[in-house]
Amino acid sequence: MEEKDNKGIDVNVIEKHFREILDKGLKIDIKDPNFIETPKRVARAYKEIFAGLNHTEEEIKNIFKKCFPTNYKGIVFEKKITVFSMCPHHFLPIRYDVSVGYIPDGCGLGLSKLVRIIELLAKRPELQETFTQEIVELIEKHMHTLGAICMVKGEHYCMQMRGVKQKDVSTITSAANGVFLNKPEMELKFYESIRSS
Ligand SMILES: [Zn+2]
Repeated sequence: MEEKDNKGIDVNVIEKHFREILDKGLKIDIKDPNFIETPKRVARAYKEIFAGLNHTEEEIKNIFKKCFPTNYKGIVFEKKITVFSMCPHHFLPIRYDVSVGYIPDGCGLGLSKLVRIIELLAKRPELQETFTQEIVELIEKHMHTLGAICMVKGEHYCMQMRGVKQKDVSTITSAANGVFLNKPEMELKFYESIRSS
């Protein structure tokens, strides 16, 4: 039976080919009770892990839809939002700690909404650099702000488990727009808040 979701992720195809990876690629006895259901489990896990693939503009718009009027002119700051992603080069996990700040221009966003956007973006195999840039671009596009800034710390398991095997290395990326680009003191304020809180 065909099991597809509305995003076109085809768990049957994933299951079929993962069974082949185990069986013919890794020569694992797939009749072993530990492995017999594994291809199905992997396919279901992929469906969840990659749920942000092919997201629609509509979904993004809906998350940003509700705006709360405010005169606040300081930085709204959300620190260390933890999300998981997969690297596009090795298909191995990445743990991200994302800190975001923005200055509302008349309206603010519900606190959980930024988390939802970041979670959606993370559920795709994408470069950390691109992921970071997209966060501030989406805030700029869908909200009225004086500027947005974002810093992402990534722990890439493809660097920890294989290759250079660096266990404690993390990759830091950042992106900014509006006042955070034009006024270095605002950018500084953001990084100070990350350090001090
Ligand atoms: Zn990688």
